[in-house]
Amino acid sequence: MRLRNVKGSREIIATNDYVIHEEDEIKGHWHEFFGNDNPIHIEIGMGKGQFIMELAERNPNVNYIGIEKYSSVLVRAIEKREQKKDMDNLYFIRMDAEYIENVFDTHEVDRIYLNFSDPWPKDRHAKRRLTSTHFLAFYDKILVPSGRVIFKTDNIDLFNFSLEQIPEAGWIIENYTNDLHHSEYNEGNIMTEYEAKFSAMGTPINRLVAYREK
Ligand code: SAM
Repeated sequence: MRLRNVKGSREIIATNDYVIHEEDEIKGHWHEFFGNDNPIHIEIGMGKGQFIMELAERNPNVNYIGIEKYSSVLVRAIEKREQKKDMDNLYFIRMDAEYIENVFDTHEVDRIYLNFSDPWPKDRHAKRRLTSTHFLAFYDKILVPSGRVIFKTDNIDLFNFSLEQIPEAGWIIENYTNDLHHSEYNEGNIMTEYEAKFSAMGTPINRLVAYREK
């Protein structure tokens, strides 16, 4: 993602009510934070938040947390979130997913969405890909036993890498498609910003669902 430094974004984030500031302290207490026992779904690398905003609106009985590394991007999601003040099931965290275990306890998350994650094409950066065995080990801890990782990307190299890494980490691929928009899995699909951009250019969208046997 091309990053433009948005002036004052750090200050906006520091004082915004939809951004969680002491996330480490909420670890193990997310249901108390939301004040209900609804499932918790997170999106890692949510960008400007189009996808998770739409999901949260459609599913008021699910708690959503959008995670984004960069302030300049997160601030755009906050602008959208501010338009939906009556919604009480969506919050954001500015953090690098590398530290996700500091924020969620064992079996605290029901679903993880990864949408158009950065491909990190160089071999030496493979560990940074959000579908690497390195990250799958984190997801293994924080997801409930029946939890799912749902991953979409335009990038076929990253997708093929993921199809290899998932079984290597001991996970199972429940289903996958190399052309989501022309597949049986497209029903109810919510497009992300990147998805809209790539599909408008005619690029097929890859999607997979993964789980582990517990
Ligand atoms: N998910 C959005 C979409 O599909 O439109 C944005 C996709 S964009 C290519 C990837 C986003 O993931 C960027 O906003 C980037 O800052 C964020 N990101 C990448 N690595 C991350 C990490 N380790 N932790 C948190 N966010 C990350």
